[in-house]
Amino acid sequence: MGEQAQDFAVTGVTHDGAFRVIVLRSTQTTRRSIETQSAEGQNARHLADVVTGTILVRLTMAPTYRVQGIVRGAGGKGTLVGDSHPDGGARSLLQRGKGVTEVSLGQGAIMQMMRTLPTGAVHQGVIEVPDGSVSAALMTYFQASEQITSMVRVGSRFSADGELEVAGGYLVQLLPEVSRAPLAVMTERLDLDFSDLDQVLEVVQRDPAELLAEILYGMRFAETQRSELRFSCHCSQVRVLASLASLPRSDIEELMADGTPIHMTCDYCGSEYELPTSALAGLLSKS
Ligand SMILES: [Zn+2]
Repeated sequence: MGEQAQDFAVTGVTHDGAFRVIVLRSTQTTRRSIETQSAEGQNARHLADVVTGTILVRLTMAPTYRVQGIVRGAGGKGTLVGDSHPDGGARSLLQRGKGVTEVSLGQGAIMQMMRTLPTGAVHQGVIEVPDGSVSAALMTYFQASEQITSMVRVGSRFSADGELEVAGGYLVQLLPEVSRAPLAVMTERLDLDFSDLDQVLEVVQRDPAELLAEILYGMRFAETQRSELRFSCHCSQVRVLASLASLPRSDIEELMADGTPIHMTCDYCGSEYELPTSALAGLLSKS
C-alpha cells in the first residue's frame, strides 16, 4: 500500500503570509537507514526521528545546502547522525560506542545541526535535547539558532515485529506577518487535531499533501514546492581513499606492507571498496 510509495516533501504558504507548512514522508529513506545501520528498538526510533528531522531542517533553512544532524547520547555515549543532501538523498549513521547498546536521549543528550555553505564554511547550532524528544529539540534549535518560531512533529510507527511502517512529520513555521488571530487558530488546531502522532502518521502514509491541506484547512494557501526524497549515499572509492589521508604515514605504509589490496566498507551504506596498494601509494606521495 502507501508504504511502498515514493518519499517526498510538500510545502505550502498561506496567502496572508502568516504560515509556511512543510510535510514530509520519509518512510523508504528511514527504512534503508535502519537496515544499513542494523538499528533496533529505541535506536531505530531515534534514528528515524534524526533522519527525518535533518531532512526537515534542510528543507526549512537551506534546501540547496547539505545539512547534517548529529545527536550525541546522554553521557556522551553513542551517536545518531542524519545526513541530508540537496538532491533529496539522505543517509544515516548509528555509532553505539563502547559498551553501549542503546543511545539514550535522556538528560545530557545534545543535538548539533550543521549546514555546509557553498564556500565550504559550516554554520552550526548546538542545543540540548529536551525530554528525550527530537521534535522538541528541533523546535528549540529553530528558535535558538535560526530565530524561527515553529511547531515541529516528527515520528515513526513500527509493526509488532519491529518493521518500520511509516516515518515522517511536519513543520509549521510562523512567518513575520503572522498576527494574533491566525496564530491562536493555528495553535489550537495543532493541539487539538495534530498532536496525536499516530493519526498524523496515518495521513502522511496516505499522502503528505493531504496533511498539508488539513493543517491549513479553511485558510487560503498555495502549494509552493514538492520535492522527492530517497535514501542515497555519496561514497566512492576516491572518498573512501581520502578518509585514509589523515592517517600517519607509518600507518599507511603498514597497510601497504604485504602488497594485497585493502578492503574497506562505507559506514553509511555498507558498500565495499577494494583499494589497490598503488592507490595508497598516491596518498604517500601527496603528504
Ligand atoms: Zn556509502
